[in-house]
Amino acid sequence: ILSIEGLSKQFGDHTAVDDVSLDVRPGEVVAIIGPSGSGKSTLLRCINLLESPTTGRITVGGIPTEVDGKVSQRELVALRRKVGMVFQSFNLFPHLTVLRNISLPQERVLGRSRAEADARSMALLEQVGLASKASSHPPRCSGGQQQRVAIARALALDPSVMLFDEPTSALDPELGLEVLSVMRQLADEGMTMIVVTHEIHFASDVADRLIVMADGRIIEQGDPKTVIDDPQVERTRTFLSAIR
Ligand code: ATP
Ligand code: MG
Repeated sequence: ILSIEGLSKQFGDHTAVDDVSLDVRPGEVVAIIGPSGSGKSTLLRCINLLESPTTGRITVGGIPTEVDGKVSQRELVALRRKVGMVFQSFNLFPHLTVLRNISLPQERVLGRSRAEADARSMALLEQVGLASKASSHPPRCSGGQQQRVAIARALALDPSVMLFDEPTSALDPELGLEVLSVMRQLADEGMTMIVVTHEIHFASDVADRLIVMADGRIIEQGDPKTVIDDPQVERTRTFLSAIR
């Protein structure tokens, strides 16, 4: 459903992502771990074209986008519609209600009517356990609630793939659990997901595959439990013992 070929991103003479290739099957949950600065966020931002990759090709749902050099505005919009992203910071509009945060992008991006967008937003709020917060403003919600709104907002555009960049790392552990449980439910429903996380339990319980990055490259990948219990690469071993 998502295929990345030879993706690289240079910042000046620094290579943040170095020739990464990755195929994600429909319904697959891929967790990515790795030391700070290893290029995890840059990789996700490149997949969503928030960062323009230096070279590579990204194929979502069968439609390839050559990302070398200039990507047309049309290609960019088409790709972003299919790839939802949730960040560490929730990036909600504080002056809009929770419901409006979710329905406005549906009107702007998908051309849905207000009624249609509101109905879909309410259904998603039910799904993330926040129907009662529909008319609240984000600053009145807890961090965990805001992150669940951000997930609902991304889902509202019916993406084929969801990217998560450390969605719980800004939250107290208890609030992080609410968010992880929504993500687990999404995974169970068959959503295709790439999750950058330090939550090793989530990776081992929910992910189908664990990828370890270092210096912009994939240094190891495989079944999460196998990689965690018996890493083959010294760098992976060092990293895992540091976060446990
Ligand atoms: P963390 O675990 O701390 O979030 P990460 O694996 O997400 O780290 P990235 O944020 O992808 O790492 O950064 C990879 C490298 O690219 C780092 O060396 C970083 O300094 C560099 N980098 C990232 N964004 C930029 C930018 N906009 N300009 C210049 N260098 C950047
Ligand atoms: Mg990061």
